Amino acid sequence: MTEIIIALSKGRIFEETLPLLAAAGIVPDEQPETSRKLIIGSNRPGVRLVIARASDVPTYVQYGAADLGVAGKDVLIEHGGVGLYQPLDLNIARCRMMVAAPEDFDYASAVRQGARLKVATKYIRTAREHFAAKGVYVNLIKLYGSMELAPLAGLSDAIVDLVSSGATLKANGLLAVEQIMEISCRLIVNQAALKLKRDALQPIIDAFQGAVEAQKC
Ligand code: ATP
Ligand code: MG
Repeated sequence: MTEIIIALSKGRIFEETLPLLAAAGIVPDEQPETSRKLIIGSNRPGVRLVIARASDVPTYVQYGAADLGVAGKDVLIEHGGVGLYQPLDLNIARCRMMVAAPEDFDYASAVRQGARLKVATKYIRTAREHFAAKGVYVNLIKLYGSMELAPLAGLSDAIVDLVSSGATLKANGLLAVEQIMEISCRLIVNQAALKLKRDALQPIIDAFQGAVEAQKC
C-alpha cells in the first residue's frame, strides 16, 4: 500500500480543507484543535495528516516529509516554491496582502516625495519586490506577528500584512492604503512524489479540483 502524507496547519486551513479531503474520500480520525496530536490518521489506510505551522508546510512538502500540502500564496512566496508543484488554487482562506499605515499618515504624499519609508512585516520578500517594482525606497523591519503594533509603537511608518475585513486595522487606527495582491491557498505537491506515487496522488488532486470547481458554481 502506498503511504500518503498530507501537510496542513491548524485553524482556518484545516477547517477549509476538510470538505476537499471529503471529496477525495478522506476523513481525518481527529481534530487537531482538540487532540493535540501532530500526526493524525484517517479512514483511508495509509493516508495520514501532519499538522505543521502554516509557514512550515512548504518545507515539509519540499523535502518529501509530506507528499501533499495546503499553503497560502503569502507563505509560498516567502518560501520560494523550490521543489514544489502547485497544480491548484484551492480558493480557500482568501484575503489580501496590503500596505497599511496610521490614519493620519499621508502615505501617498510620502511616496510622491520619495521619502524613505520604514515598513514592518513578516513578509519581507513580498514587500521587497512590491516596493522595488514601485521604485519606493524602504527600510524593511522583520516581525513575526502583530504587525499592527509597529506603527503604534513608533517602530515603523507602515506595515505589510494580510487583511480580510479590515477590523483589526481599524481597531488600531490603521488604514489599508495599497493592495499588493490577492491571497488564497494552493495545493502543493512534492515533485518527486508526484512521479513516484502518481497512481495514488493523482486521484486526490483530481478530487480536490472537482470540489473546487463545484464550489465556483
Ligand atoms: P501563526 O498563526 O501560527 O503565526 P499564520 O498566521 O500564518 O501562523 P493562520 O493565521 O492560520 O496562520 O493563517 C494561515 C494562512 O491563512 C495564511 O498563510 C494566509 O494564507 C491565510 N490567512 C491569514 N489571515 C487570514 C485572514 N484574515 N483571512 C483569510 N485568510 C487568512
Ligand atoms: Mg495568524
